[in-house]
Amino acid sequence: MDENILKNLANIQKRIHDACIKAGRNPDEVKLLLATKTVSPQRIEIALHAGYTLIAENKIQELKEKFDGLKDVPHTNHFIGHLQTNKIKDVLKYNVACIQSLDRLDLAEKLHLRLQAVNKTMEVLIQVNTSNEESKFGLNPAQVLAFVQQVAVFKTLKIKGLMTIGLFSNETEKVRICFQLLKNIQQQIIALNIPQVQMHELSMGMSNDLEAAIEEGATIIRVGTAVFGQRFYPDSFYWNENKT
Ligand SMILES: *Cc1c(COP(=O)(O)O)cnc(C)c1O
Repeated sequence: MDENILKNLANIQKRIHDACIKAGRNPDEVKLLLATKTVSPQRIEIALHAGYTLIAENKIQELKEKFDGLKDVPHTNHFIGHLQTNKIKDVLKYNVACIQSLDRLDLAEKLHLRLQAVNKTMEVLIQVNTSNEESKFGLNPAQVLAFVQQVAVFKTLKIKGLMTIGLFSNETEKVRICFQLLKNIQQQIIALNIPQVQMHELSMGMSNDLEAAIEEGATIIRVGTAVFGQRFYPDSFYWNENKT
């Protein structure tokens, strides 16, 4: 399987390129983030050495376990899972550059207080539940504008854009509606001109639907399976654990 990682990466690169050309976009506008849940440090390293250095975990536990194995290979960590407030110290300790899954005011506030105490800042994306599925984390679309305004008050949190998982479906056109909704919310926020709030990033699109996401304006696509192969755990294990 490992020998396929490089081939798979080249394949994804080509899919991104082709989708950008089709959409009249510059391929440099789209960053490829590797979703590395369940993938061993040894296999992640293959991608890092090939120059694919933006990676993300869903669980603090996995971030922790892989930290030593990856610390000598330059890379950037994002966090894309449900973040519990009792794990805030860890997310800071393990060099996460951006939390893509900010979706609760109490989390934002506790993050801010912790960051303030250690004199740091953190990039964040706001996670939106665009598919209206109970099982998914993320804010209800109707709550996002007010939420962004509330979070903007916390000066340590650098809002960079929005993230969504989209509908879990093989019907691309249904998933596309989720991506269009995220873009639409982004435009509404931009129109509010909130001081300190940037809205450049739209993190959306995964192995099966990255083309549609790019056509709808994604700047970060998050790919796991198409690079590292099928995972043993179902995604529900990562997407709705301890949903509160
Ligand atoms: C696993 C995961 C991905 C990647 O999904 P694939 O279908 O394996 O490409 C993207 N985003 C999040 C939040 C994930 O948990």
